[in-house]
Amino acid sequence: MDVTIDPRDVGPGELETWAAARGCDAVVVRKLLSAIFRRGVLEPDRWMAESQIPKRLAESIGPLPLPRLRLDASVVSPGDGFQKLRFRTAEDLALETVLIPLHKEGAVSLCLSSQVGCAMGCTFCATARMTTRRNLKTWEIIDQFLQARDVVHSQGRRVTGAVFMGMGEPFLNYDNVMTAADLMRCSSAGSVAAKAITISTVGLVPEIDRYTREGRRYRLAVSLGAATDEKRRELVPVAARWPVAEVVAAARRYALARRTRVTLAYVCISGVNVGEDDARALGELIGDTPVRVDLIEVTDPTGRYSPPGADELQSFRDALTRHVGQPIVRRYSGGKDIQAACGTLAGTG
Ligand code: SF4
Repeated sequence: MDVTIDPRDVGPGELETWAAARGCDAVVVRKLLSAIFRRGVLEPDRWMAESQIPKRLAESIGPLPLPRLRLDASVVSPGDGFQKLRFRTAEDLALETVLIPLHKEGAVSLCLSSQVGCAMGCTFCATARMTTRRNLKTWEIIDQFLQARDVVHSQGRRVTGAVFMGMGEPFLNYDNVMTAADLMRCSSAGSVAAKAITISTVGLVPEIDRYTREGRRYRLAVSLGAATDEKRRELVPVAARWPVAEVVAAARRYALARRTRVTLAYVCISGVNVGEDDARALGELIGDTPVRVDLIEVTDPTGRYSPPGADELQSFRDALTRHVGQPIVRRYSGGKDIQAACGTLAGTG
């Protein structure tokens, strides 16, 4: 019996191999991807009628109807226009996607989830407290992208980028995330520029090295949490099994191989990791590794951690300028009023 395939679940290259085995060439694959990604057509009858997809190929696609995530909530922040979509899987698990308005008029970046829940256990993160966890399938990641993009288009705006900074640690779901990114980047499918897709990790050294080895063209952001192992053990306990020096060494290998700056994300917590000592430790750790340091103020719904005040943050920035001497960027974590900010996604808001 013929094995069916969901074109949202395999990479463009694998799809071509599959089509070739059925006597169809790359042009047919491009038409199929274009029908799904550009026009949102998910029915075999319409693939055949509107895109001249051969019947033998259309009939090999399945299971039909192609499954969708159920969109069950959408909320827009009155404060800053961030929008959060909550989806439900077939087994009723919640996952969330955030629409991030960019400075450029009408441009939106999508913050996608890679898992339901997250096993990394970061102590400032609501996702870590979700009791059910699993990797998202590639088609579930792609369906977030397609449905969120439909929302963006209905508002007369356009999607110009995607970041894997929603629920989950993307490198724990490496293959599915990379396949989804490949589909989002493919010019016949999502058409998002590779440099506008960011994969964010809390510091899984073997996967950072794999990513470097494979020469992936997407941006990489490594979230440090803290510059010392002692503090990382408190803030990002699971990721802290790799000493922070090894994490930065892996980030350095990536930066040098790609001849780019690697983004180091740093969650700023008042009284915990924003002192002069922390800046000095970060500077020693980074050395001459080409980095950009993104500072993100913590949003902890439990109230255990607080963001630094304006003076405390400015002092830390000044100290980083002295000790790191490379670009320091304050990254806005929006949608706090709708539980859409970094570390607050839990499928409940
Ligand atoms: S911050 Fe990221 S890696 Fe850490 S628990 Fe939350 S989702 Fe997972």
